[in-house]
Amino acid sequence: MRDAGMKILILLLLFSPWLHAQDSSIHTSLTDAEEIQAGEAVARDFIQHEGMEPTPQTKKIDAYLQAVGDRVAAHAQRKLPYQFRFDPNPGFKSAGGFPGGQVFVGAGILAYMDTEDQLAMVLAHEIEHIALSHCHERLIKVMTEQHISSKDLGKLTVDPFLDGYGHDKEFAADREGVNLAMEAGYSADAAIRLLRTFIILGEQMPNAPKEAKNNLEVRITQIESTRDASKLPKPIAEKPLALP
Ligand SMILES: [Zn+2]
Repeated sequence: MRDAGMKILILLLLFSPWLHAQDSSIHTSLTDAEEIQAGEAVARDFIQHEGMEPTPQTKKIDAYLQAVGDRVAAHAQRKLPYQFRFDPNPGFKSAGGFPGGQVFVGAGILAYMDTEDQLAMVLAHEIEHIALSHCHERLIKVMTEQHISSKDLGKLTVDPFLDGYGHDKEFAADREGVNLAMEAGYSADAAIRLLRTFIILGEQMPNAPKEAKNNLEVRITQIESTRDASKLPKPIAEKPLALP
């Protein structure tokens, strides 16, 4: 099947000059349905990689993450079936967004939160990596590098999706994420407090890289200006985190 497909492709490339010109960008257009399918494969591999096994307790936490995430994603630029899940690994002190709307939140980062607004800000950052197509671009790059066609998206693994997206895209996800969560009625101050918590934690850890503190301070400055530029009403108080 694959060989036959490859032969046809080679023939097309030999006889169609315009196709030949587009050879290097075979995977430039994935439909939402394909991206969703790819995201499901990546999420399955992540679940296996983390050894996640749902329990009645984790399912309750998933439901809470989903409720908060749905509220935030309602305003997202891309309408996708966003799915939010809890990873009980305490060493996972972050969250991750994968193609198609898959978002995982680590127990490690939840442990540092005390308000739902902080959770909303973290979910919004991940939603924006998906909505701003950072995950989509990564997916296309991975498919091209690993020669994975849209017919074998099930072969995708999570590894190439675990790295950050670089300075510009991280700052874009922060900025747009803060706007998104504010539209859902959450406080931008929540994001600032969470980043300050990371600064304090880093100061107490002798092995923490110095540039991490600088980066967090610059992120805080951007969030403050995003908050100040917003015309949305500022919530009077943050909602307590209601983890089941
Ligand atoms: Zn990020």
